[in-house]
Amino acid sequence: MNRATRIVRSLAVALCFLPAIAGCTGNSEPTIISKTTLGTVVSVSVYGDETVASSAAEDAFSAMDGVSEVLDAYTSGTPIAAFNQDPYTEQALPAEAIQILDVIDGLGVSEAFSPTILGVSSLYGFESSQTVPTDGDLTLAVAASRGFVRAGSGALFARVKDPDLRLEPGGPLAPGLDFGGAAKGLGLDRAVHALTTAGAHDAIVSAGSGTVTLGAKPGGDPWRIGIEDPRDPETIVAVVEADGACSVATSGDYQRYFEAGGVRYHHIIDPATGEPSRGLRSLTVFAPYSAMGGLGADILSTALFVMGPDAAESYATEHGLGLYLVDSEGRARIVPAPADSGVRLVEETEPAR
Ligand code: AMP
Ligand code: MG
Repeated sequence: MNRATRIVRSLAVALCFLPAIAGCTGNSEPTIISKTTLGTVVSVSVYGDETVASSAAEDAFSAMDGVSEVLDAYTSGTPIAAFNQDPYTEQALPAEAIQILDVIDGLGVSEAFSPTILGVSSLYGFESSQTVPTDGDLTLAVAASRGFVRAGSGALFARVKDPDLRLEPGGPLAPGLDFGGAAKGLGLDRAVHALTTAGAHDAIVSAGSGTVTLGAKPGGDPWRIGIEDPRDPETIVAVVEADGACSVATSGDYQRYFEAGGVRYHHIIDPATGEPSRGLRSLTVFAPYSAMGGLGADILSTALFVMGPDAAESYATEHGLGLYLVDSEGRARIVPAPADSGVRLVEETEPAR
């Protein structure tokens, strides 16, 4: 029934790793270490003394691994996987989860960003069965995902329990926590902290759909972070240039999806309906690091994608954030970052229609 290409790949490309495109020049070469963590390949690139840089990069990877080991819902034994075994009982949450919940609230995007959506997205089986759920199953799973209650500042549980056995833990519609839309950003923040603590000053950490920079790129060039065309990801449609520390995050309908009956079912779910959010192909949010950090950027790229192009533009404008989006027709729309922010967008080419 569901045959299509599933593509999971890097989105925003730190262009320093593509010298042919970026023409990266500088007085010194960075120490670059790439490893798989946070569910993707992450590159940490640190300028300055090589011994300090290598050690700082390793610390950054340890910090990112630490976030995965807590928040990964799909690896048994993590605190979140353990929580999901018993979601109807009030349980203490790890500090990482509490931090994410607090940032969602602080950003005012809890209608669009739902970390309790696991039972809904599991229905689609993006990594396995690739199935279009029935309306009845979607309705039940959405209701269950909305039944979570924050019992205290550090505890959470799912309140709604239907007699339907499929809602039991382990059942196909069981509610659960999924921090997949924010974990990478938190990991990037932990990496920045680890790099700074280890004495690194100028660095870029690229985790595919999320990138952060620290300090300035030696040699006077800005940091350059490419944004992929959502329908031709080999092509860079725009570049975020940053004079100093920045964060950039992209969410897209091309990162994890399948097609059925000519319809694209992708991994960014509208919590109100349980269906893939329509209206956008990709959305990138960018700003100085101090504006939203890595975590805020990751949450916002997902949330603004769900909110759609008009609401996303209003939010970015009101909050002084840069935005580059590609709508469902392939048209690019831009909200520039404030003129004095040291972060700007350079358009390279039109996205494919
Ligand atoms: P991102 O690539 O940061 O936009 O995150 C997408 C991932 O976040 C998905 O693969 C799901 O694990 C999760 N997710 C999907 N929809 C939502 C949503 N509305 N709110 C929060 N997380 C979501
Ligand atoms: Mg996100």
